[in-house]
Amino acid sequence: MPVLDPFTIGVVSVLFATAFSVSLLISRISLGASAIGMRTWLLGDAALIVSRYPTLAELQPAMLPASVDAMLLTNVCVAAGAAWHWLALRRHVSPHPKVGTGLAGGLAVGLLIALLSALLFDSAVDRQRLFHAVMVVLFAVKLKITWPHARRLWGARALTLAFAWALLANLVMLGTASDHKAGGHQWATMYLLMGTIMTLLAAMAFLLWLQQEAAESLAHRASTDALTGALNRHGVLPRLTAELRRASRSGRPVSIALCDLDHFKKVNDSHGHAVGDQVLKRFAELSVHILRTSDLVARWGGEEFLLVLPDTGGSDALIALERLRNAQAAATDDLPMVTLSAGIATAQGRPEVYQMDGLLQRADEQLYRAKSTRNSVRFEPIGAEPATA
Ligand code: GH3
Ligand code: MG
Ligand code: MG
Repeated sequence: MPVLDPFTIGVVSVLFATAFSVSLLISRISLGASAIGMRTWLLGDAALIVSRYPTLAELQPAMLPASVDAMLLTNVCVAAGAAWHWLALRRHVSPHPKVGTGLAGGLAVGLLIALLSALLFDSAVDRQRLFHAVMVVLFAVKLKITWPHARRLWGARALTLAFAWALLANLVMLGTASDHKAGGHQWATMYLLMGTIMTLLAAMAFLLWLQQEAAESLAHRASTDALTGALNRHGVLPRLTAELRRASRSGRPVSIALCDLDHFKKVNDSHGHAVGDQVLKRFAELSVHILRTSDLVARWGGEEFLLVLPDTGGSDALIALERLRNAQAAATDDLPMVTLSAGIATAQGRPEVYQMDGLLQRADEQLYRAKSTRNSVRFEPIGAEPATA
């Protein structure tokens, strides 16, 4: 006699899947707003867990009246579960999902299978074919959702693999459909085990997807200034450190510029804080627009910004900052005109000039000089006469 009979394996796997769904439910609470789609996914998991009942009943006939078609009941629940998983993914990736499709969608797919089976297909083989055809379509539409995200997200990659495998398996079964009852207990045990493993893996992959996205969004928020969308100090300092380290190894130049908006307090005083905020936003957007995509724009604090220009020598940085200063002074929107003062420092040559604190201090000294006239950019190459614009 085997240590575990198929029925016990089935019950254990159902309990396992249920326990995992409960832990998924707990994760939904901890993930908060990032868990978009998790509720619909759990609905799918519930349908898949319920689908095990008629399969278990095939091993223990007393569990279901003989008049109930266990195979059809299984198929309806599995298809509804797969549909809810599809809708969960759609809800997650779509910024404006249609309200109400979640619950209705899974039920509709289940009902479709039940009705078509009852009305059109008499034989068990035809009903199996119908079921596998619906599953092929469902896995195809799920793949269409996960595939574009598979490059970036591990969870989406795992789901893509799982769905591709399931699509293939259903295609094979569509071609070789037979009355599974011929397989007896063996079929039921295999279904219970494979079904449970797939449900767990897919749920873990979806959870991983949500967690990775939540972590990325947290990291983005921690390094970005909420008002201007520019980097904040936390975001720019590690990048500046890395850039200086890279450039000091190769001897390439790196320029930085500390920018300060002139008489900004007056803008707040005469137009209000909200207008002041818009002026700060405009400057950040203008900087991103005018500088290269490889340059960094960071809000250093208040109305001060730090610009990092990799691979840029002093004279090129001066040209870029002059262009920015002119554009800032010539802005033609409804916001008040605010000029810009900036101090540039460049690191190039000996390794010690790439030291970040020294570089920032030199830029600050130049900014201080620029403030003496305002609406100006100052730059002082080491050992050379100061360049003024
Ligand atoms: P200067 O030309 O010497 O730089 O003069 P200033 O008025 O620009 O400089 P000051 O340091 O006196 O004032 C900076 C002002 O920036 C004061 C502060 O209220 C304002 N500020 C700082 N952060 C923000 C912000 O997020 N939004 C708005 N609207 N104002 C801010
Ligand atoms: Mg200031
Ligand atoms: Mg200022």
